[in-house]
Formats: sequence, structure tokens, C-alpha cells
Amino acid sequence: MVRIIEVGGLSYRYNEDQPWVLRDLSFSVNKGEWLAIIGHNGSGKSTLAKCLNGLILPQKGTVHIGGFDTKNEKTIWDVRRMVGMVFQNPDNQFVGATVRDDVAFGMENNGIPREEMIRRLPEALRFVKMEQFAGSEPHRLSGGQKQRVAIAGIIALQPLIVILDEATSMLDPEGRRDMIRTMRYLNRERRLTVLSITHDLSEAVYADRMIVMNQGEIVREGTPRDIFQSPEFLEKIGLDLPFAVKLGHVLYEKGVPLTDAALSQEELVNELW
Ligand code: ADP
Repeated sequence: MVRIIEVGGLSYRYNEDQPWVLRDLSFSVNKGEWLAIIGHNGSGKSTLAKCLNGLILPQKGTVHIGGFDTKNEKTIWDVRRMVGMVFQNPDNQFVGATVRDDVAFGMENNGIPREEMIRRLPEALRFVKMEQFAGSEPHRLSGGQKQRVAIAGIIALQPLIVILDEATSMLDPEGRRDMIRTMRYLNRERRLTVLSITHDLSEAVYADRMIVMNQGEIVREGTPRDIFQSPEFLEKIGLDLPFAVKLGHVLYEKGVPLTDAALSQEELVNELW
């Protein structure tokens, strides 16, 4: 197993006279893993995401990405290239007049040679199944399609890790499904490491592992299956169980032996979600 992210004793605060926003976080992520980082608003998820791509540096502890310490100025650009970020509002992420231009722009910005750009562009659009939209204007696409273009722009830069920071929260249910399907494909078929940061537990159903944050601390870590076993705890820290999992619990209580199925069978979750 290659540990692609290693966080040790990370603490962060925006100002010396303000409380710590992240408190002594330690965890690691293996290459090809999908980790969901869950927590209600204000729990420190976005701050953590910024620490992971070296945008901000920890005042205590360390963050290593692909073996590089984010505090090492000599390798900070290697770190930033390794980590692709997809944000909440797809409309704020476009700079190109067409889908093709938009994906090309990011590569140009990263100094990728022209011949290499020509090779990567159709490949990136194919990964997200948007090749037929290459000439379309990004703002005319649906929410899910826009996020897929944003993902193509990142894939074209060949990162090792993609961080989705509340990336599905502005999408309608179809858009969400669309985007999650794309990420699952990239995670499984391309062994892309995915970190999905969200307050929405239903997005975490697909993760290999979850970290639950509350007030800047990791309060639970485990598989979605383990974590969903404690609905009272999740509710106490402001998180709501996904509908499919709730249904599984209700059916189980009524004597239908569905808990396992509801927690592990993606088909059921897919159908209900
Ligand atoms: P989440 O992503 O879980 O909503 P954030 O990381 O955005 O949480 O915020 C965690 C805490 O840090 C909040 O209390 C927030 O007010 C504070 N915070 C976030 N960004 C800044 C900033 N730029 N300056 C000062 N405080 C901030």
C-alpha cells in the first residue's frame, strides 16, 4: 500500500488570537482509496482541504502529499500539481468559451507542451463522457455536466488525488448521481485517489472509509457501514443519515433482514437515493 497522504498532529488557526480551527488531526490515505470527510458546516473541512493542497500551512504538525512535506517551499508546486480540487459552484470554475478551451486552459497554465495537450484533451473528455460536448459553451450545460467538465480539466493535469469540496451540493439529484458515477469510475478504473468533503452523508455511501469531523477534531473513523451504525451520535453532531440507510434500519427493526443489504448493496442505495 502506498500512503499518498499523511497527516500527523495537524493543528491550524487563522489568527493567533482565534481558537484552533483544526486540532491535532492525524490520518493517512492510501493510493486509490476513496475517503469521505464528513462534518457539519464550520467543522473545519475546507480548512483541512486547503492544508492538503498546501494553500495554507499547519502551525503544528505536518502534511505529506506523495512523500513531500507541504512546508518545503522547493516542492510546493509538485504538491499542488498532485492535488486537483473541484468546488461547490461549477459556474465559478470556467474560464474558456467552450468545453475544449476550458480544459486546454488549465493545461496551458501548467506549462504542458502543445503536443501533450492535444493528446490529453480528448482523453480527459472521454473519461468523463463529454467528448461530444467539446465545442459547447460551458454555461449551457446541466449542473452535473458542468462538474464533469471541471473534473476533465483536473484529470487533464494528471493529479494523483482529487478533492471534491462540497462539489455535489449545488446539483439536483440527477446531477449528483451523474457526478458520483463519474468519480466512482475514475476511482475504480483509474485508481484515482478521491477525497470527498461534504456535510451530506449520502455522498459518503460510496467511500471506502470515512472520517467524521466535529469542531476541528476527528471524532470517528471507519467504513461507512461502521459509522452508519451510530445514528444517534451522528445526529448529535448535526448530521443526518442517508435515506436509504434509515430505511434499512426501519426494515430491519420490522424484521426484514435488510440492514446488511442496505449498507452494502450499492444497487439498493442507488435505487433509493
Ligand atoms: P467547513 O468547511 O467544515 O464548513 P471551514 O474550514 O470553512 O469549515 O471553517 C472552520 C472554521 O474556521 C469556522 O469557524 C470558520 O468561521 C473559520 N474560518 C474559515 N475560514 C476562515 C478565514 N479565512 N478566516 C478566519 N476564520 C475562518
